[in-house]
Amino acid sequence: MKRFYLILFVSLAATFFLFFRFGLVNRERKIETVSSRQPDLREISGVIKKGQTLFDVFKKSGLALAELFKIKEASASVQKLSELHPGHSYKIIVGNDNRVRSFIYRIDDDSMLNVRRENGVFEAEKKPISYEKRTSEMYVVVRDNLVSSIGNGRKDQSLAFQLSDIFAWDLDFASDLRNGDVFKIVVEKLYRNGQFKKYGDILSAEFVGNEGDYRAYRFEDDGKVKYYGADGRPLEKAFLKAPLSFRRISSGFSLRRLNPILKIYRPHYGVDYAAPMGTPVSAVGNGTVIFSGRMGEYGNLIIIRHWGGYTTRYGHLSRMAKGIRTGVKVTQGEIIGYVGETGLATGPHLHFEIRIDGKPVNPLLAKIPRANPLSGEQMAEFRAFRDRMNNELASIRPPIYAAKAGLVGQSSRSI
Ligand SMILES: [Zn+2]
Repeated sequence: MKRFYLILFVSLAATFFLFFRFGLVNRERKIETVSSRQPDLREISGVIKKGQTLFDVFKKSGLALAELFKIKEASASVQKLSELHPGHSYKIIVGNDNRVRSFIYRIDDDSMLNVRRENGVFEAEKKPISYEKRTSEMYVVVRDNLVSSIGNGRKDQSLAFQLSDIFAWDLDFASDLRNGDVFKIVVEKLYRNGQFKKYGDILSAEFVGNEGDYRAYRFEDDGKVKYYGADGRPLEKAFLKAPLSFRRISSGFSLRRLNPILKIYRPHYGVDYAAPMGTPVSAVGNGTVIFSGRMGEYGNLIIIRHWGGYTTRYGHLSRMAKGIRTGVKVTQGEIIGYVGETGLATGPHLHFEIRIDGKPVNPLLAKIPRANPLSGEQMAEFRAFRDRMNNELASIRPPIYAAKAGLVGQSSRSI
């Protein structure tokens, strides 16, 4: 009998749990389908096809081209309607007199053109597209490279790039990631009419992998948004981890074919990055170009002088970027040249060196100090946010079998 009650209790608990979970999911997916259109109005809506113009749309729908002319004229100062983006949506509301009441066109992810007929005259305005924000927790187990691990869609790519920008001072996304490394992410997801449209800001992220453990927290100090480590110091440092930006490498090449860039360390105090010919090379830190030209085995070489006696060298370049010459100031992340095989090089690669007071150091081990931590009230506020994010991150638990890699999981809730 005791056993019967135990079973009853367990099944009730399970039912309650499932119902609760299901309820949550359901509430999230609820799509509003309220229609308040008046019966004497006709709606023409669709998505712009490749090569299609509004002329085609109006003609096909039997609308007067004089109306289109007036709409174009009214919109001219807000948004030109001569070139439309394929894939962008439009909606025309027409009265039973076959005159256009309103015309809506999605300009981009963030704004739409709204043209209305007011007292017989068209008035156009650009309106921001509002999204419903939900915080979402997800994990990504790395397989091959970050982009394909998250997914190959445009939205997924933007999330991968955002992640690579946040950790760009600590991780070289092209060569530091290993299969089985895990990212945990607390991210805003933007919805419209119940449909997921795009990712917003990453609020917090954690990397657990071969290269170590890193955490990032998005925090605003003095009107400036930055990512901070758990100690309240900004993640940004004087030098990026690598002169080849993951964002730039990935966006230039077919994602499906993108493999991790090979990194070959040679005992000559430099790092060689094997990368496709023409891959953009970035300055790892702010500084001044003190050499730009040919130098023996280096081939085309750029030397940048930074603060504190640091210099960085970028060799074997196929060419320098426009405007890069001796005496020019460069900023962190700026493209200075392109990967090549000039000088003593077998195959296209970038030779990268960091020197302190002229002495080469191992760039992979060079310890670059972080900026000062937050203080006072800001630090207290940061700690509260960090602790809240830590709870969120701790609740993200990739299943054990995820270690086999290639998994993405997520859950989301409204905020
Ligand atoms: Zn080298």
